[in-house]
Amino acid sequence: AGGSGRLYSEEDPLVILGSSSLKPTVTNSSSAWLVQFYSSWCGHCIQYSNTWKALAQDVKDWHEAIAVAVLDCAQEENFEVCKEFSIKFYPTFKFFAAHSSAADKGTIYRGADREVRSVRQLMVNILQNHIRTDRPQSCPPLEPYSAAQLLPLLGQRSDHYTAIVVEEAGSFVGREVILDLLQFSGVEVRRALTSDLPLLDVLNMAAFPSVYLLHPNGSHAPLHSEKPLRFFFSSLLRSLPGVQRRSSSEASQTGALQDGRTSEPWRDFDRSQVYTADLESSLHYLLRVELAAHGMLEGAELKVFKDFVTLVAKLYPVGGSVVKLMETLSDWLLSLPLQQIPYQAVLDLVDNKMKISGAFLGAELRWVGCQGSRPGLRGYPCSLWTLFHVLTVQHDATPTALDGSGLEGEAAPVLQVMRRYIRTFFGCKECGRHFEQAAAANMDQVTSREDEILWLWNQHNRVNTRLAGSLSDDPVSPKAPWPSPALCPACHEESNGVHVWNHANVLAFLRHHYGASNLNPRYSL
Ligand code: FAD
Repeated sequence: AGGSGRLYSEEDPLVILGSSSLKPTVTNSSSAWLVQFYSSWCGHCIQYSNTWKALAQDVKDWHEAIAVAVLDCAQEENFEVCKEFSIKFYPTFKFFAAHSSAADKGTIYRGADREVRSVRQLMVNILQNHIRTDRPQSCPPLEPYSAAQLLPLLGQRSDHYTAIVVEEAGSFVGREVILDLLQFSGVEVRRALTSDLPLLDVLNMAAFPSVYLLHPNGSHAPLHSEKPLRFFFSSLLRSLPGVQRRSSSEASQTGALQDGRTSEPWRDFDRSQVYTADLESSLHYLLRVELAAHGMLEGAELKVFKDFVTLVAKLYPVGGSVVKLMETLSDWLLSLPLQQIPYQAVLDLVDNKMKISGAFLGAELRWVGCQGSRPGLRGYPCSLWTLFHVLTVQHDATPTALDGSGLEGEAAPVLQVMRRYIRTFFGCKECGRHFEQAAAANMDQVTSREDEILWLWNQHNRVNTRLAGSLSDDPVSPKAPWPSPALCPACHEESNGVHVWNHANVLAFLRHHYGASNLNPRYSL
């Protein structure tokens, strides 16, 4: 039950507690809890809510060990419980150890510093202050290991990687990386201190923090990371071969039971390139499958389709059969005075006339960069994102390409056409609803071609952040902030201990990645 003043919603990566759920949640829980008791009328709480959301996002993957929650003491139904927990000022932060008793009313955090980094470090300390037997089951040891414990592992085979974070005593990076990998199988993370000279002697390391990696086959070497930052280490460890998010490995097992294995041969590909085969397959699917659900194209729908075809005809970055097809289709659509076109007529045009004029679109789906490790994963939605990223970048590279098309008058024409296409035709209705919400929130603020590129990039990351670990997350291509530090080290920085993007470098990277010169024609017809 919430009024208009609610500061947190179900979409936020935290738990919203109330009078009936607080005690059952924090009592005898397998994880520790950090609860912010706030009041939705307190100005400071309103200002602070963005920081708390950023914190919750930052430590989302720690939740099995320590979870983040809020409780609104301004809601009438919560008056009693806030009194019982002695909340006098807002916000008040209270933490509850794992397995705490019903009598435990939580411990107040009195620190003045409430920035993300400080609260995150508080969370690490809360976990570490559990007595050994009471620590949350899913929380691995956070104390440093010694040379005597670690050196015997060198050269041993194992069914997983072992990553040793070597750092100064006061550093939190090792413990944060341990917790970042909590949800992932296939790698164990341990920490060791720079004061452990016998260890340093053998590992031969000089700069800290850094990671030393023991491979399953017994080989071992320092892990190369462009920057000695938590985000880089965690991201690199998560992308090691065989390392998987636990929930998605369960999802993929049930999925495999339902679907059987894919019969298609695996196509090797390079994640730093964009494959024209994916772009062609997206158009193939769009024209032959997605549109087929609409027996008759008429009125506003027809206009949306025409605009989409025009956009692709003008901005598809490589000449040849696809552009020919789209140009022919566009001319044909514009020449018809009709308000209604049967889908079958479009299909006939695509299938037959095109072959004669040499405008040809591959008649099968060939996913390359968009291959899923089993049917039902990746494929079309992946290729549609890819197509629109390519179009935003091409619009930026060829500013006059849309002149005379009727689309040039719109601010952010690529985004607007995409928005209308998704809303009208995209088969995943839930996706369409989310995308429409995001577009309604701030797409009208996009006026430059650079912002068009960045808006789509940002929106794409928002979607995938929400989907990480869900059923649609392919364990072989797990959803993660993109581009990864491995693809673009210069895109990532840290500010006050929190990961931040360098937008100028992201823009430069996107221009290159989705630019015409980075398109790989391999596997294409
Ligand atoms: P995708 O997210 O499809 O990414 C494809 C490729 O694009 C990646 O392999 C990578 O090379 C690159 N990439 C990744 N992130 C970025 C980025 N930020 N900027 C530029 N390039 C990037 N699914 C849902 O379950 N719920 C939804 O609400 C939902 N909404 C969607 C909205 C739209 C408009 C679209 C096109 C798809 C939506 N989907 C949604 C599908 C979902 O986003 C994925 O496309 C799908 O799960 C396949 O994921 P993927 O792992 O192949 O990667």
